[in-house]
Amino acid sequence: RQDIVVIGGGLAGSEAAWQAANRGAKVTLYEMRPKEMTPAHKTGDLAELVCSNSLGSVDSSTAPGILKEEMRRLGSLIIRAAEQARVPAGTALAVDRELFSSHVTRALASHANIRIMHEEIADIPRDCVCIVATGPLTSDKLSQAIGGLAQSRHLYFYDAISPIVDADSIDMNVAFRASRYQKGGDDYLNCPMDEPTYDKFYEALLAAEKVQPKEFEKTPYFEACLPIEVMAERGRQTMQFGPLKPVGLVDPRSGRRPFAVVQLRTENSHGSCYNLVGFQTKLTYGEQKRVFRMIPGLEQAEFLRYGSLHRNTFINAPQLLRNTLQFKGRESLLFAGQLVGVEGYTDSAAMGGLAGINAARVLTGEALLSPPPTTAHGSLVAHITTSDAGNFQPMNANFGLFPPLAASIRDKSQKRRLIAERALTDFAAWMAQSGLS
Ligand code: FAD
Repeated sequence: RQDIVVIGGGLAGSEAAWQAANRGAKVTLYEMRPKEMTPAHKTGDLAELVCSNSLGSVDSSTAPGILKEEMRRLGSLIIRAAEQARVPAGTALAVDRELFSSHVTRALASHANIRIMHEEIADIPRDCVCIVATGPLTSDKLSQAIGGLAQSRHLYFYDAISPIVDADSIDMNVAFRASRYQKGGDDYLNCPMDEPTYDKFYEALLAAEKVQPKEFEKTPYFEACLPIEVMAERGRQTMQFGPLKPVGLVDPRSGRRPFAVVQLRTENSHGSCYNLVGFQTKLTYGEQKRVFRMIPGLEQAEFLRYGSLHRNTFINAPQLLRNTLQFKGRESLLFAGQLVGVEGYTDSAAMGGLAGINAARVLTGEALLSPPPTTAHGSLVAHITTSDAGNFQPMNANFGLFPPLAASIRDKSQKRRLIAERALTDFAAWMAQSGLS
């Protein structure tokens, strides 16, 4: 008997299989390695960590820490294996990668409800409940099948991520609200630059240290999402005629059009975080902080996430998924992991867990679940399912995704502590209500 097929035995697929099997479903987990390898994986083990050996912070006053605590409460295999394979790294959950993968592999292989098949899947089965969790390096054949289902325009092979800053850290004595030619009201925050500031910024971008692409990432950039520093390399004025063009804007403080303008657009309905429009970049994180803080109004900016450009496979989840991770129009098909537009080992595993729980509920006919947006799981689900589909880019857990507190609190650490408390209280209530405790 086979109830659920999980495609992809990475971070998300392993967690999905575990959660579904623990709820009585008979799961077949398909992993193509070691027969077919991705350009980044090196072994045939399940849940292989392809790069860093850290799953990020466990400090529950941080967003990644809250997410891990919620996963732990759900009985996450990934968190349990990471704790068993933990190596000293302060508040980071760093692991011995081989031990970690072997804990996951053994737990799944010895589970009475799980069968592991080392085979590449080229198409999405229709005759069973299925979770697709094939990650950023989904094989070409399956990518084609997903592209067919998602209509190719909703499947992406690169991400182009602009940095995101905390709204409270933007100097509103400098930034002003307006849209170019007032099209779109006051939707954008504008950071005005005069000519000497622009020149300094331009020189700093050219000189800044960049991350070298991996061998399989060395493909030409799309013109529509060039890294900002590549744009700068094309000439002093290129940015000024591109994302930094000042046309249709008047700085209310000077009454004049600035020499150049960096525009920021809100990332969520509560306006707690803003992205720097057109600032996808390969600058190292340290350099992003240094160089982007040269932008007037962002001198004290707190970066909730840094910009990047990666080889990645993900779908336009706001267009295609429900908040239960089901594919719209096919209730028995769920997506999980980095494919849904989250980033990183832990966030991918968290989405795997949710997909596993819901896939089991499809079988039993129970109502499917979606955690409240005040929780770390729920804030990620809200990001991937309610973001503007026209500008969708992947995200990892961060405080900018949580809805604001009812009361306005100035002290940042107190505010975050209260958001963390609310998240864990609401998560516990949601688990109890849903019969997950
Ligand atoms: P994966 O863990 O990649 O799992 C997907 C699995 O599906 C793989 O095992 C793959 O072999 C399998 N598969 C693919 N196609 C098929 C198919 N057709 N049939 C069967 N099986 C298939 N995240 C971090 O947190 N820290 C990092 O340092 C980091 N570095 C990264 C470096 C690189 C080069 C890349 C590509 C990604 C990196 N990431 C990092 C992101 C990280 O890989 C993912 O967040 C995480 O592994 C995603 O989990 P997943 O389960 O969605 O995908």
